Amino acid sequence: MRIKFLGTGGAFDVDYLNSAAMLAFRDECLLIDCGFTVYQTLVQKNLIHRVQYILLTHLHNDHSGSLANVLLHRSIVDRAAPPTILYPSEQFKNQIYEFLKIQVKDPDKYAEFMPLEEFDGIKAVDTYGQHSEGLQSYAYIFEEEDSRIVYSGDLGKPEVLFDRLSRMRSLPTCVYHDITFHTENTGHTYYKKLLPFMNGVEMFGYHCDPTQNPPDNPIRLVFYQKELLA
Ligand SMILES: [Zn+2]
Ligand SMILES: [Zn+2]
Repeated sequence: MRIKFLGTGGAFDVDYLNSAAMLAFRDECLLIDCGFTVYQTLVQKNLIHRVQYILLTHLHNDHSGSLANVLLHRSIVDRAAPPTILYPSEQFKNQIYEFLKIQVKDPDKYAEFMPLEEFDGIKAVDTYGQHSEGLQSYAYIFEEEDSRIVYSGDLGKPEVLFDRLSRMRSLPTCVYHDITFHTENTGHTYYKKLLPFMNGVEMFGYHCDPTQNPPDNPIRLVFYQKELLA
């Protein structure tokens, strides 16, 4: 299992590109989130042909804004088989479908859709309303035999995710969590709220402007880990 980030910024941190990642998992290649900078990054880094599966944390534009571009590129430029969009619930599938329908008319022409539960080893954690009021969002947990990767998505309240983790079998776990350095930003997790959960896991922060990182933050930022960047 290997994760490479395509960007680590927050919604307005365009210098650091939208937070998204490519995950090599069980011999497949997954794209996690597809914000408005992701299409360009995938093309520039010559990675777009590798995307087999797409998994979205939520439908804010910095997580879904170039989904249609990626699908159209695969069909029109690459003339390749459509990627498969994994969905954790029927309701979220319908939201993705309606979102795409406005842009590409017939989403089924450009993407396959597959329930996440049919993909072995990935669990969705429903974080509805915990990033933005009334908004569906998910965190995801990826498990192989000997390791686990956790991707928070945008999440203002980390408790539900760590509660779920605490009830899972013990396994070397690496948590990638969104992070904010401003208490008034309630849609994301203030770094001090993550400190109680650092025991027994590796943790990295993303979805932020790394130049704002306070000196007393012990959580390493993905942005500074060269081996985690695509
Ligand atoms: Zn975001
Ligand atoms: Zn968001």
